[in-house]
Amino acid sequence: MQPRLLHHNPLPDPNDEPIRRHFAQAGYHIKAQALDRTYRLMLHQLGDSAFLLRSDAVLKVLSDAQVRKETAYPVKVLQQIANPRERTPEFMDHLQRLVALGVFLRGYNLKCPYCEVEDWHPHLSESVLCLSCGSTFQPPLVLNLVYKLNHVFAKGVKNGALTALLLLHRIPDITAWGANYTMNHRGQTYELDLVIIADGRLLVVECKDNVPDHQKLRRQLQNTDAIAHGVKADTLLFATLAKSIPDDVTSILSHATTPAMTLNRHRLTHSTWSFE
Ligand SMILES: [Zn+2]
Repeated sequence: MQPRLLHHNPLPDPNDEPIRRHFAQAGYHIKAQALDRTYRLMLHQLGDSAFLLRSDAVLKVLSDAQVRKETAYPVKVLQQIANPRERTPEFMDHLQRLVALGVFLRGYNLKCPYCEVEDWHPHLSESVLCLSCGSTFQPPLVLNLVYKLNHVFAKGVKNGALTALLLLHRIPDITAWGANYTMNHRGQTYELDLVIIADGRLLVVECKDNVPDHQKLRRQLQNTDAIAHGVKADTLLFATLAKSIPDDVTSILSHATTPAMTLNRHRLTHSTWSFE
């Protein structure tokens, strides 16, 4: 029996229909993967607080390997990860907002005295059910609140959402966007990180939260350039949360067939730019 849909989250506009139409006219049939929806849910959840992603301290917390695994930490530990120094009051304000938005969830880490497994619990009562062994036990008298990333954000940030969301937040006049496309073209399968139509311009974007394997990146960029050329994109954009643009990328983009532009962490979070 099929599960019954009780409730459907509307996807925030703009959708990617104009992009799929444009690509189809150029002979590319593209399909957005499930992560596209994850990105949309994340933007929807952030709403007009997407500017929080521009904070270096917030980015550090969201980039932390354990936070991404939904490990729940007290504020003190999150603060150590963020290392905001003199901007601590600002970081605390940002964290408070992220909790209000449900990006971080408040709860308690409780260790079961029977099986000794520690689990995160959103609520406390005098009788707590262990999620691991099913025993019930009483929580201790003194307990710290701990905060963990919600599942949608954890999934998104593990899959490179931060660079894409920052771009979507910062580029004005976006009329359509789509993320994580796959396509088959002349027997080959290609992937595209992000495509945006803004102010009538078509931007094909390679997004990388970090740049690990240069050889793979080189191949991806060359493919992306070929697609950008095929669909007559206005700009080929390389955006990364890394502090600097790798030399490899600069050299490939200097030979790109589509006008290219790069944005590093500083430009994504601080400066303004235009496509002129
Ligand atoms: Zn237990």
